[in-house]
Amino acid sequence: MIAQTDTLSCDILICGAGIAGSALACALRNRGYSVVQVELSDRPLDTARGDHFQCVVVDILEQWGALDAFWAAGAEKRHGAIYCSDTDDVLLQSDYSDLPIPHPYYAYLHHELIGDTFLKLAAENPNYTLFRPARAREFEVGPEGIRSLTLKLPEDHAAPDGFTPGQTVIIKPRLVVGADGRGSRVRDVLGIPAQAHEYDNPLVVLFAPRSEMDPLNRVITYMGSHGTLTKVPRAFGGWKIGFPIRKSDIAFWKTATPKLRRNAIAARAPHLEHLEAEVGGFYPVKLVNTDRWVQGNTVLVGDACHAMHPARGQGMNVAIRCLAKMLPLLPDPSDLANADVLHQRLKAYESSVKPAIDKVLADNHARGEEMDSLDAAVIARSAAAMKMINDNPEMLRRYRLQSAGYADPLGTPSTL
Ligand SMILES: Cc1cc2nc3c(=O)[nH]c(=O)nc-3n(C[C@H](O)[C@H](O)[C@H](O)COP(=O)(O)OP(=O)(O)OC[C@H]3O[C@@H](n4cnc5c(N)ncnc54)[C@H](O)[C@@H]3O)c2cc1C
Repeated sequence: MIAQTDTLSCDILICGAGIAGSALACALRNRGYSVVQVELSDRPLDTARGDHFQCVVVDILEQWGALDAFWAAGAEKRHGAIYCSDTDDVLLQSDYSDLPIPHPYYAYLHHELIGDTFLKLAAENPNYTLFRPARAREFEVGPEGIRSLTLKLPEDHAAPDGFTPGQTVIIKPRLVVGADGRGSRVRDVLGIPAQAHEYDNPLVVLFAPRSEMDPLNRVITYMGSHGTLTKVPRAFGGWKIGFPIRKSDIAFWKTATPKLRRNAIAARAPHLEHLEAEVGGFYPVKLVNTDRWVQGNTVLVGDACHAMHPARGQGMNVAIRCLAKMLPLLPDPSDLANADVLHQRLKAYESSVKPAIDKVLADNHARGEEMDSLDAAVIARSAAAMKMINDNPEMLRRYRLQSAGYADPLGTPSTL
């Protein structure tokens, strides 16, 4: 039987349904656009990745009418963060509760549940179609950007209503969003240059049962001569623990007995000597910064144009904050067919936001280099810098505002 080919026109094609793509589909749901989304994987997103929404992002979720869905999905509140030495001396203590902001707390939920929650909300749009699993690969590109995407639906998976497995679909979008992550295919077919930096040391992520209750659910980072280690609260109980290791130590972490794991963790944070942690995965860390975000009718978002070291827990948050800045600039659905207007609006978004992201990436890189270092002298310098901030009330207030996502290069309300 010859599989049928259909043409599907839409206002917006989103390639990728990680957090950037799913958040965008959610934010667009009540705005009158027809949206088609294509996601390569039919597996849940990786639970080890970004799971804490900054305070400023909590506010964005509320503005999108999405916040209640996150509480319903199990999100919890975190009220602060602590940095301490490997002997448990507090270097810096940061608490958001008295900041003059609408939501003085972070909200956290497993990464894959964040994605699912966004996609459930996205499906409230009566003109929303999700092809999953399906690989966005065959693009027709012209001077105006991306003209079409030819999708071959897999034979062995159910297709969305109105489509059949094995069918070929030609998608003709007015606007294309490349939300397909660090190795973006959209970026590559458009030939958008990207600068990349690979950090020396991968991160290992471990999961452990919650060993102690802190009513403020704070993140704790230990900074000692063996390197830094961060212990992050997980929704529904549990810790996520992350730290840089040498590539040559991956074999150790893959095979270490519980006792050897406990000893290795205790070397960085003696306080955690009894923690029973299981290895979740290893993450090579890379910074990616593209020269531009826009080509014709296409714009890149999220890790596709700005992937960064997780040292500051910013990648997912920055992606959502950029979307919140892009949305008001998009032409209305009735004006989207005007390619010149669309391109001008996308360029206006790029020129107003990218300089701030370049600064965020530079700041994040400095912090990433510190976290990447296993050199005791570098860690001691970072620890001393933390202590200096902690001892100066004005610096500490600014630090807390910046962590919350206010008063940093992207957060405009710097008068707080
Ligand atoms: C260990 C770790 C911890 C982190 N912690 C934090 C944190 O605490 N806070 C924070 O803000 N950030 C954190 N981050 C970063 C954050 O997870 C990422 O910045 C964010 O998830 C990127 O989302 P994205 O949607 O841009 O990209 P991705 O998550 O990479 O999503 C891209 C999606 O596109 C799909 N795709 C790829 N190619 C195609 C194709 N050709 N066709 C169709 N689909 C395609 C992929 O399957 C994927 O689902 C962390 C990252 C790591 C690795």
